[in-house]
Amino acid sequence: MTKEPIELPSPASFMANGAKEAFRVLFNDSLYSPSDLNSWTYYHLRSAEFKGDGYCIFCKRESIFVHHDQDQQLTYHRFSTRRAPNESALAEQAWAGTVTLHCQRDRFHTYTFHVRCVSGTVEKIGQYPSAQSIAASDVAKYRSMLPKEDYDELQRAGGLIAHNIGIGSYVYLRRVFERMIARHHAEYAKERGEIDGFGAMPMDQKVEALAAVLPSTVRDFPGMYGFLSKGLHELSEEFCKKHFPLLRSMILTIVEEDYHQEQKALTAKTMRDEFARAKGEATALKDGNER
Ligand SMILES: [Zn+2]
Repeated sequence: MTKEPIELPSPASFMANGAKEAFRVLFNDSLYSPSDLNSWTYYHLRSAEFKGDGYCIFCKRESIFVHHDQDQQLTYHRFSTRRAPNESALAEQAWAGTVTLHCQRDRFHTYTFHVRCVSGTVEKIGQYPSAQSIAASDVAKYRSMLPKEDYDELQRAGGLIAHNIGIGSYVYLRRVFERMIARHHAEYAKERGEIDGFGAMPMDQKVEALAAVLPSTVRDFPGMYGFLSKGLHELSEEFCKKHFPLLRSMILTIVEEDYHQEQKALTAKTMRDEFARAKGEATALKDGNER
């Protein structure tokens, strides 16, 4: 009997994952919270080129950040062959150093991270600009799209996570989510009438009941609120910190969707009003000509 060939991941996929993970550690990990380190991540942090999307506080918009290949600068012979150390060698590595990322729009826009790798773990021990400044500027572009209360609380959530507080940051995300649902409920009730027993419904039923007016992200991820609530009661601090960026970007996607929806409705209303006026003028002209 012939055995099915086992498909092994290619070296390229290890490299790509290492690059992705290196970027994640720098951009998303909180200070002083070690995570497991694999050899390709180590290799990228120390020498190889990698890039990822992040918010540039200098450009004030999303950009691509690049870590340039520093192979030639390395004196550490193990890396001169462009090979990562094997996993057992990695456990014996101890390295602390600086990793600099450059904004692709302007290479003087630099983000500097201090990283410590020891006993198979990687830990961010410092950075400039601070995660709080990055989070605050990132949210700044949503200022005009959000009620002040939501904007302030999203900033507060970013501030807490920058100070390594995971569970607490979920409180603010949850409050923003709840207010967003309340706004859509008011909108629904105004246009289509009140939903029976809405106030007493659990959140997932509320989401279902409001499906017609909610942004698609809320409908596509029906468990989002459960996740935020679980964060407060059942999940660990580490788990909350790890998944904060995902939940935050889901909330921001909802904010954007809502905003675009509103803008679209406003544009449509302006066009309807102007068209009605134009028709009125045309009728007046016709009447004038016939007289
Ligand atoms: Zn920039």
